[in-house]
Amino acid sequence: MKKHNFSAGPCILPQDVFKEASQAILDFNNSGLSILEISHRSNDFVDVMEEARSLALELLGLEGKGYKALFLQGGASTQFLMTAQNLLSKKAGYINTGTWSSKAIKEAKLFGEVVEVASSKDANFNYIPKGYDIPTDLDYLHLTSNNTIFGTQIKEFPTTNVPLVCDMSSDIFSRQLDFSKFSLIYAGAQKNMGPAGATLVIIKEDILGQIEREIPSMLDYQIHISKGSMFNTPPVFAVYTSMLTLRWVKKMGGIAAVEELNEKKAKLIYSEIDVNPLFQGFAAIEDRSDMNATFKLVDGDLKEAFDSMWNEAGINGLNGHRSVGGYRASIYNALSLDSVAVLVDVMGDLERKA
Ligand SMILES: *Cc1c(COP(=O)(O)O)cnc(C)c1O
Repeated sequence: MKKHNFSAGPCILPQDVFKEASQAILDFNNSGLSILEISHRSNDFVDVMEEARSLALELLGLEGKGYKALFLQGGASTQFLMTAQNLLSKKAGYINTGTWSSKAIKEAKLFGEVVEVASSKDANFNYIPKGYDIPTDLDYLHLTSNNTIFGTQIKEFPTTNVPLVCDMSSDIFSRQLDFSKFSLIYAGAQKNMGPAGATLVIIKEDILGQIEREIPSMLDYQIHISKGSMFNTPPVFAVYTSMLTLRWVKKMGGIAAVEELNEKKAKLIYSEIDVNPLFQGFAAIEDRSDMNATFKLVDGDLKEAFDSMWNEAGINGLNGHRSVGGYRASIYNALSLDSVAVLVDVMGDLERKA
């Protein structure tokens, strides 16, 4: 039986995508070849790469606005250093909202001066800092739109003339934003878009080429752009499966339609956390994430009972990250409202039994 998968990543993808991807492993486009054995230079795969790149820009509303989409390897973690290596001449600003931002800061320091413009470390990252002043002499300001581990999400992005760079690994394609506010967006595929192994990078081309340092080819955005995201063998299967998910988002009605469903799911889980006296949310209410809901049991003695109840209900991946503890329900795009209802029922059952 298919589990209700609340895993933070790699995460659930649409069932139709799993079916189509598995079919392509056996026979891709009736070619008599598996997607795993075709040349990445074949016309069929070049079409996949081009469709994936253009769907990404189309869904984000960035077509014809000077942006390029790349599918790279090395995860979002490689983007922590690539962004700095390609964009940081003198000084960059970072908003520190959690584990991933902290890691991005560490890498950026290898390439120049890093200013921590604001941080929520003082409260174990349970909120999003607001009302901070952004220095005007920054090469860029780096943000993390959704903090997967802590369950906070930026609802309003700062207004500034400094170019914005954003790690959107765990909420890309989940909500409508004015994506043209950002000069660079990156996202590991495995949180909301595809299997692990591909990283989507969306770059406004005019921010490149302004630094003096030499950049190794594999880490140079301009080289990847000039080669159509095919400088070396791309992660063929991860790109193909991501493309299928992007087609699914489009078929659903685009990001607007997906967002509507995501809001319903978030409302359902958070209203249970709020009304059920056995549970307590982790993140500040105004900042809580529509993708990762973090919460804990008020009475730790109920852990065993609750854990066995959700396991029996066919729920997977509910344990919180070790730095927060408790539970985390990741309710990414492909998770159904029905799955959230199953979890909410279990939480209600626990209250009735306790
Ligand atoms: C998971 C995650 C990362 C790390 O991604 P990798 O692809 O494993 O390197 C970075 N940032 C955010 C916000 C994440 O959720």
